[in-house]
Amino acid sequence: MPGRSSNSSRRIVGLFLALVLVPSALLVWLGWRLFEQDRANALRQFEERRGQTADLAISILEQAVASTESSLRDTAARNRVAAHGDAVAAVIDGSRLSLAEGGRLAYSPLPDPGKDVSAQPFAEADALKQRGDVAGARERYHRLSQSREVTVKAGALLRLSQLATSDARLDWLHRLSQLEGASLEDVPVGLLARVERCHQLDEMQRTPARQQEATVLREDLRNGRWWISKLVYEANLGDGCLNVPGALADRTAAETLATAIESWWQSDRLTPSGRRYQPATGVTIVWVNDGDTQRFVAGLPGFVEREWLTPIRTLEQRQRARIVTRDPAIRTATAGEERRSAADTDLPWSVVVSDMDGSAEMARLDQRRSLWLAGLAALLLLLGSGGYFVARAIGRELAVARLQSDFVAAVSHEFRTPLTSMRQLTEILVDERVTAPERQSAYFRALARQTDRLHRLVESLLDLGRLEAGTTPYRLEPLDACALVRSVVEEFERETAGNGVRIELDVDGTATQVAGDRDALTNALWNLLDNAVKYSPDCRTVWVNVERNAGRLLVRVRDQGIGIPDSERRAIFDKFVRGARAKTDGFKGTGIGLSMVRHIVAAHGGEVRVESAVGAGSTFTVALPITKFEVQSSKFEAAT
Ligand code: ADP
Repeated sequence: MPGRSSNSSRRIVGLFLALVLVPSALLVWLGWRLFEQDRANALRQFEERRGQTADLAISILEQAVASTESSLRDTAARNRVAAHGDAVAAVIDGSRLSLAEGGRLAYSPLPDPGKDVSAQPFAEADALKQRGDVAGARERYHRLSQSREVTVKAGALLRLSQLATSDARLDWLHRLSQLEGASLEDVPVGLLARVERCHQLDEMQRTPARQQEATVLREDLRNGRWWISKLVYEANLGDGCLNVPGALADRTAAETLATAIESWWQSDRLTPSGRRYQPATGVTIVWVNDGDTQRFVAGLPGFVEREWLTPIRTLEQRQRARIVTRDPAIRTATAGEERRSAADTDLPWSVVVSDMDGSAEMARLDQRRSLWLAGLAALLLLLGSGGYFVARAIGRELAVARLQSDFVAAVSHEFRTPLTSMRQLTEILVDERVTAPERQSAYFRALARQTDRLHRLVESLLDLGRLEAGTTPYRLEPLDACALVRSVVEEFERETAGNGVRIELDVDGTATQVAGDRDALTNALWNLLDNAVKYSPDCRTVWVNVERNAGRLLVRVRDQGIGIPDSERRAIFDKFVRGARAKTDGFKGTGIGLSMVRHIVAAHGGEVRVESAVGAGSTFTVALPITKFEVQSSKFEAAT
């Protein structure tokens, strides 16, 4: 029976799975595909947008760079380009390089330090000095220092400084440092004078003043104050006197631009025109050659950003993209990037376009998918657990229905047997087929027994109904349990006399009080005895034993019958439940006896247990609380 009911509930679960889970799985699959498609579409859209942005960016940059290239012919435009100090623009005409205003280089490939100071105007004065007429020479140098010719003036001031000492020498050198356009051996006199002043201060041990002058001089030198060669630049920068503690180590714009132009000068200058980005210096150089004249602009990243990339920023906002110019040598694009190399675009850099909010958009898509999956999982869980509970409830209902129908069949059978005997006996007696008085009375006794059996059956059914409905309250009274057991056993023996049944009773004589309903307890014990006899077809002896243990009275009914399998041991106490062998081997019964026993014992505050081994027999133990009976008050209470 449990097998059949679990089979049908398994079928119901299977049906449920087919009806609910299969469409759900289909739904999941379809949903998943939809999301994947969504994702792929979004990725494609991003890719297209990046390509479009890259095209636009390149055309904007091309225009910007080309416009700078053409503006290089115009002096004013060149000056404007160089005005911020982060770029130089220049024209090279043969061997002359003219820098646009504002542009500075720390040193130049084509230096123009000014006109050389010649010794010729000072020949006479120098001769006087040679002869030891220092005053005469000084007087002449003085006169020459008033000259409008810068080289003469510079030479005179230089000689005057050489004749002077200490502060006077410092003054002459100061005046010399103000002059522009004259040089001595390719060193501008201004630079020369200032270096000399540092040496003089050093000699005079005026260290703070020397350091102050040296700091300013270094900065001027590094910022391209003089138009000198790399050799002069490095020689002066390396002069020990200019060495000031804590001098800035960072390269200046003029130095970086000078390095960039130097390397361009050596490699690319002679190509007709071109655009180069130098990763080592970060400088971008654009140049145009018109016959003998060459024009170029070299700019630091700030210049590139201001002059060429500004319109790109508006495009970035509009296209929600990030556009960067990078080293042209890097060609491979990473995922989510559109890269156009310098070789493809003819721009100085490679252009890389990435999405500004692409990853956020993808994350939003992924989050939506996770949410959807979580919802679906919850739904499936709900459906699964709902299905499980429904199947279990249906299974139980089916089991109950089957129990009830088994019960009806069993009860009908129980009724039919005594009724058939009663009908036959009655017919015999009515037809007076038996006339001998002894035989007649034997028939009457048989009739009475069947009537009793029928009566007991009806009573037990009614009892169960009443017990469950609680319509017959238990009337608890003080009872001597041992005496009660003894009398029930005796009555049972009388009843079954002639069936070969033997009851071995083991009760000591001590009276033991329990609070109990006599009829109900009799009923319970009778049921246990009846079962013990019924389910022991091969052994007609039943053992009954009464003992006390920890304030409880234990009544044991033991048999050596068919026994009860483990799987049935709990269920047999439920209403209408009969063991498998009881049904298959044709043992009569209705499945209500043990449920009544449990009900009655529980109502007395006790419990009923069974120990059994299949083929070896069973022992049912009823445990009831022993009570102390108080004679005066006629009351009793639980001893435990
Ligand atoms: P019934 O005896 O009318 O079938 P019960 O409620 O008295 O109903 O017993 C329920 C089931 O318990 C029986 O069908 C039988 O399988 C099992 N059973 C009860 N007592 C014994 C016993 N002494 N030995 C073996 N099986 C028993």
